[in-house]
Amino acid sequence: MYAINHAATALLLRKKESKLPLLPLLISVQFVEILWVLFNYLGWEHFSVSNGSIHLDYLPYSHSIFSGVAAAALSFCVINLGYHNRKLAVAFAIGVLSHVVIDLIFHEKDIRLSPFFPTPVWGFGIIDYPMLNFVIEFAYGIGCWWYFKGNKALLWVIIIFNIVDLPIMLAHGDMLTPFVHYPFLLPSVILFQILITWYFVYRYANPKRNKK
Ligand SMILES: [Zn+2]
Repeated sequence: MYAINHAATALLLRKKESKLPLLPLLISVQFVEILWVLFNYLGWEHFSVSNGSIHLDYLPYSHSIFSGVAAAALSFCVINLGYHNRKLAVAFAIGVLSHVVIDLIFHEKDIRLSPFFPTPVWGFGIIDYPMLNFVIEFAYGIGCWWYFKGNKALLWVIIIFNIVDLPIMLAHGDMLTPFVHYPFLLPSVILFQILITWYFVYRYANPKRNKK
C-alpha cells in the first residue's frame, strides 16, 4: 500500500480516540516503512526490478509478522511505561500492526512469518493487478476520510496523492531502470512520500490548529 493510504489509517485511529495527538498516530502507521527505508540504506534489506515491476525481495526485519508484533509490543511498553499514556500506547501499537496487516493484503509473497526462517512467506498479491490495486487503495483512502469526517482539503490531499501514485503502479518496460542503477533512489522516494503525506494529512486533518 502506498504512503497516502497508510497515512489515512491514522485517521481511523484518531476518530476512535479523538483526544489523541495525530502526529504519533501518523508515525505509528508508517513505523515499519521507516525501518524499511533505513534498512535499505544500510543494505540489510533489498529490492529488485524485473519484468517492469519492483519486487521487495528481502525485507524480513522491517516487514514480517514477528517484527510487526515485536515493534507493536515494544512501542506499547515504551509509551505506556515511559509516558504513562495507555490510550496512546494501544493506538500506536494498533497503528504499527495495521501496516503489516495491510501490506499482507497488497504485497507479493514477500512477508515472512519471522526473520529467522525463509518460510512461510505470505502476500495476497493485489499489487500484481495495478488497476485493481489503485481502485481498492483509492476507495480505502476515501473511506478513511469519510469515517473521519474530514474537510474538503483533506479529501483533495487523498485524491491527489492517490493519482500521483498511478505512474508507479502502472510502470512497465524500462521505466523503472533508474531504480536499478541507483538503489538508494527507491527508499528515498518512499521516504519523501512518507514525509510529504505526513505533512499534508497532519495539516488538513487539524484545521482548527492552523487557524490559531
Ligand atoms: Zn510496507
